[in-house]
Amino acid sequence: MQPLLEIFRDFAKKEGIADKAFIVGGAVRDILLSKELKDIDIAIIGEALNIAERFAKEINGSFVLLDKEFGTARVVKNGEFLDISVMRGDSILSDLSERDITINAMAIPLTNFQPSAFSLQHLIDPYNGKNDLFNGIIKMVSEENLIKDPLRILRIYRFAATLNFSVEKETLNAAGRLSPLITAVAVERITEELRHIIRLDDSYKTIKNMKDAGILSFLFIELKECSLELYKTVEKILNNPSLYFLDYSAPIFKYFETDYRKICLKLSTLFPDSDTARQSAMRLRMSKKEVEFIHGMSSNRNRIADLYKKGTGSPDNTASISLLKEFKDHIYPLAILSIAKEPPITSFCHEIIIFYNEKFKTKMDILPIITGNDLIKEFNLKPSPLFKKILAAVEDLVLEGRVASKEEALKAVRGMLKTEM
Ligand code: ATP
Ligand code: MG
Repeated sequence: MQPLLEIFRDFAKKEGIADKAFIVGGAVRDILLSKELKDIDIAIIGEALNIAERFAKEINGSFVLLDKEFGTARVVKNGEFLDISVMRGDSILSDLSERDITINAMAIPLTNFQPSAFSLQHLIDPYNGKNDLFNGIIKMVSEENLIKDPLRILRIYRFAATLNFSVEKETLNAAGRLSPLITAVAVERITEELRHIIRLDDSYKTIKNMKDAGILSFLFIELKECSLELYKTVEKILNNPSLYFLDYSAPIFKYFETDYRKICLKLSTLFPDSDTARQSAMRLRMSKKEVEFIHGMSSNRNRIADLYKKGTGSPDNTASISLLKEFKDHIYPLAILSIAKEPPITSFCHEIIIFYNEKFKTKMDILPIITGNDLIKEFNLKPSPLFKKILAAVEDLVLEGRVASKEEALKAVRGMLKTEM
């Protein structure tokens, strides 16, 4: 199948607009680095939205209006997409002058684009972005641009982190100096950039750099001060769970395949208490699920340690079972947090994870051992709130290992009904 960018180039040629269209943004970097193209940004002089709409129609793709005011639309076809924007200013040079960093301020004329034989002589590169790209340097286009849209300050750190580049000195100074301006930026945009940073395996160093530059306090305005110790250790454990959980790291890897969990676990470590955690996550407009996760991790940080202090040293007791019932798979992030906070309980956490996988989960697998239908059939009961109570009690008995078959479950219900009456 022909890549969407080539289909668009041919469409633009046919429509006679190819010389008004340019490949910009991350796609230019990817082409220069011979990387596979991910999302592709196109800038067009003139009627960008109109062209995007016509292109979507022609290829039977879908058209998504991204930003009417800025004239940006997305055309999607077979999982590939093309973001088409109206050119800022009246030429590609004026458009590039509005961009954030030099490696993002390059363009390739669409007419010259040949995937197999792209020649560097066609690259439009007014700020020497190609050199910075090959030398691993993040450099602002201009300080004025950072002032115009202070999100760019955060994007400096984002690109330094994702590309593992270093930030040029003047850019770094300007970013630090101008950081108070970040509070004026729409939080959704801030959160988006933060996600790019935090999801990286080695995000700690970027977060630490942002803290040292005084930027972190403008991102998490709820924090009076911010220690990164827990963040650092949690990230270290997340990167190498087999060091702590040995043979039981596979389910942990699997659990953290869901991107938001890693991000939210790391975020939760920044806050001194769960109210601040929730408040900050809500202000950052994170989803309900994410806010709950961050709040949950923050408020339950000490649960395993408390259990350890109270318990017999073995996780095979009712208190552990009730913790596992409450947390199920979320015991994994909780165990990681606990180890990070209190290294001496590492082996207890490991035992909990073994117990959870070896015993608790096998019991969960036989649930539901009886259903509401069984209650109707066996005991002639009519659906009522009592149903839920009985079924929950049976579930507890199974998880505690006191009931192992349907017969035993029904017998237990008989007993419950007798005492109820
Ligand atoms: P990615 O690989 O993450 O998509 P990208 O460079 O394409 O990287 P986008 O956020 O898709 O990043 O933005 C596309 C391009 O638009 C950038 O390369 C940059 O030139 C420009 N851009 C985006 N946001 C800004 C901004 N806030 N200020 C200036 N230029 C921006
Ligand atoms: Mg992009």
